[in-house]
Amino acid sequence: MKEHKANLHKDTLAIHAGQSPDPTTGAIMTPIYQTSTYVQDGPGIHKGFEYSRTHNPTRFALERNLAALEGAKYGLCFSSGCAAMSTAIHSFKSGDHILCCDDVYGGTYRLFTKVFPQMGVETTFADFSSIQNIEKLTKSNTKLIWIETPTNPLLKLIDIEKVSAFAKTKGIKVLVDNTFMSPYLQNPLSLGADLVLHSTTKYIGGHSDVVGGFIGTSDEELHKILQFNQNAIGAIPSPLDCFLGLRSTKTLHVRMQRHSENGKALATWLESHPQIEKVTYPGLKSHPQYDLAKRQMKDSGGMITFVIKGGMDKAKKFLSRLNIFACAESLGGVESLIEHPGLMTHAGIPADIRAKLGIVDGLIRVSVGIENIDDLKADIDQALKG
Ligand SMILES: *Cc1c(COP(=O)(O)O)cnc(C)c1O
Repeated sequence: MKEHKANLHKDTLAIHAGQSPDPTTGAIMTPIYQTSTYVQDGPGIHKGFEYSRTHNPTRFALERNLAALEGAKYGLCFSSGCAAMSTAIHSFKSGDHILCCDDVYGGTYRLFTKVFPQMGVETTFADFSSIQNIEKLTKSNTKLIWIETPTNPLLKLIDIEKVSAFAKTKGIKVLVDNTFMSPYLQNPLSLGADLVLHSTTKYIGGHSDVVGGFIGTSDEELHKILQFNQNAIGAIPSPLDCFLGLRSTKTLHVRMQRHSENGKALATWLESHPQIEKVTYPGLKSHPQYDLAKRQMKDSGGMITFVIKGGMDKAKKFLSRLNIFACAESLGGVESLIEHPGLMTHAGIPADIRAKLGIVDGLIRVSVGIENIDDLKADIDQALKG
């Protein structure tokens, strides 16, 4: 792309944003700049690149690409989603308080309860469905509100626009973990959030072959702090991983369309299945926040949770009988994955808190891939018969 034009659609940005032919050879794809350092003509006389932790052209291209997709002025990439989260929290200091939605990604919960309290950063977990509740738990030292929407694994939605408007009145920053939606389906910055974060391991990577993280913002001051910390802490992705990220974003829009199409079809079918007690999916009219989903999300994505009749025994048997769905943690790949949050992704959360959140014995989480929908239904159907 010769020059970046702000009014291009996401489908075009996904393929072109942040990338231009290699100036030396004209190679259309950004090369993997697998180098640790750059030769200088004399001390301090260089082409803008000194050392690869700080400057790497492959990483820069991915950072520009993802920033464009999120409508952010600035973007930074990290070696994992957890590295992105850690770097973000290192921008705060001892004595600061974070308000985080309950029902978050297990690794986020672990960081907030086991790692950051040791550095004097305290977190309160709260149900973000009402602003009154958020207001009640806001303290004079609250510096950040941390949102994940849809939540994991129960797919509750949080109104990003409302929470951001409240936070603004108090001078509190808002960060949205947008991993479940991808930049194609939801753009938190356009709804008033200050920071958007991704585990690029999931939908952005999309092929279950790379671990990475991203933070985007249009706030120059915040970006400068994060960029300083990215370099100082050093949790940067490798050039090869950045190349894989660039290769993946080229099909992000097409994959997300199919994930959403399959998600809607599978959720609708599951809802009518006699052996399923309950289905939660933001694209179903039965979702209690269906209207918010319509307003906030471009489409409903590929994450579904459902409760199987028969409890733990039945759930375990069901999971071991599936042929196409792979029983595995993680999500967002082209292949369908299925898991038991109580035994797998959310096993680290104390049982009483799990019960309070609604992570029951028969709860199953699905990351619908982009396979043929009839094959997926048939696989679930045969496994339920066992
Ligand atoms: C996976 C995930 C993370 C952590 O990302 P890693 O790349 O595994 O470190 C954070 N948030 C959400 C919502 C996730 O699904």
